[in-house]
Amino acid sequence: MDRFDKIKEKVYSGDLPISEEEAIELFNHSNILEIGYLADTVRWKIHPEKTASFVIDRNINYTDGCVTECLFCGFHKKPEECTTLDFDTLLKKVEETVKLEGTGILLQGGMNPKLPYSFYIEMLKTIKSAFPQIDIHGFSPPEIQFFSKHFKKPVKQILEEFIDAGLDSIPGGGAEILSDRVRKRISPKKCTSDQWIEVMREAHKLGLKTTATMMFGTGEDYTDRVEHFRRIRELQEETGGFVAFIPWTYQIYRGRLIKFENTGYDYLKTLSIARIYLHNIPNIQASWVTQGKKMGQIGLKFGANDLGSTMIEENVVKSVGVSHTISKEEIIRLIHNAGFDAVQRRNTYGFVKIYKRKQAV
Ligand code: SF4
Repeated sequence: MDRFDKIKEKVYSGDLPISEEEAIELFNHSNILEIGYLADTVRWKIHPEKTASFVIDRNINYTDGCVTECLFCGFHKKPEECTTLDFDTLLKKVEETVKLEGTGILLQGGMNPKLPYSFYIEMLKTIKSAFPQIDIHGFSPPEIQFFSKHFKKPVKQILEEFIDAGLDSIPGGGAEILSDRVRKRISPKKCTSDQWIEVMREAHKLGLKTTATMMFGTGEDYTDRVEHFRRIRELQEETGGFVAFIPWTYQIYRGRLIKFENTGYDYLKTLSIARIYLHNIPNIQASWVTQGKKMGQIGLKFGANDLGSTMIEENVVKSVGVSHTISKEEIIRLIHNAGFDAVQRRNTYGFVKIYKRKQAV
């Protein structure tokens, strides 16, 4: 029995996890249909119901001022040239979200030293008191680490104060690749892998659910990707606080990091291996925002059970020239057409509504 056969046997018998060496073996295996089939097998074991989910929400970027200067970012501006949303504009965006049947917002900004601590507390309180039904999924670990350093407050205290002000969950942004060798090259001023994990650990201990992400294809190697998976799986074993894992490819920006666009083959292979390796994370999301709708839909057969957000507003990926939009009806059609009933969910994967599939169209 060769090594690939052994992995197959583990997946079919449910004898997971696979090891780091086995994950590397999968990366070096050229037949993505075989890997995708294994990922689909894991997906059906975790989600035997014939559904795939999505959320209606919008990304609100409260400020584009940032001093971190990641090499892949087209979004940030110098704090003295930036735009910071006033609370009236912010509330209008939330109101529009509610009108479109949205259940949450993803609140994220740059690391802007010009904003006082009270801005964040007031922002959360203002949104939550006007729209208590809206989930605030906000502030990635690098932002929390920035606040901790800038305002000289422990991470735990910031999280407690944000929760009191209305924060419901944390998005897993800013992870890129959780290997400091890679982080030093692509985002040297951002928090370290340990610091990213520390925020998530504290958040989980305080009862916050979070997602985890991975942006790959910046010139890292497979061992870096597997190290990233390992860090996520280990923390999940400890806390159980991750509700989903969302991998996507780096969107080429001014050729700073790589010369050519990442491939669909690499995306589907990595998505599939994430599903197999991260057996303890309940949901894997396909990223139509970065891969396009058709590739996102195909992802539902390569381990993903979720198509993410309708993304009423998105600014960060758009800033590097990639822009796809989708309506609620379209995301439901993509899911139905792939053979699933569509489930609208909240940011932390709570059930909202089911749209039954009548026929494949
Ligand atoms: S990716 Fe985020 S942290 Fe990095 S420069 Fe852009 S806004 Fe700043």
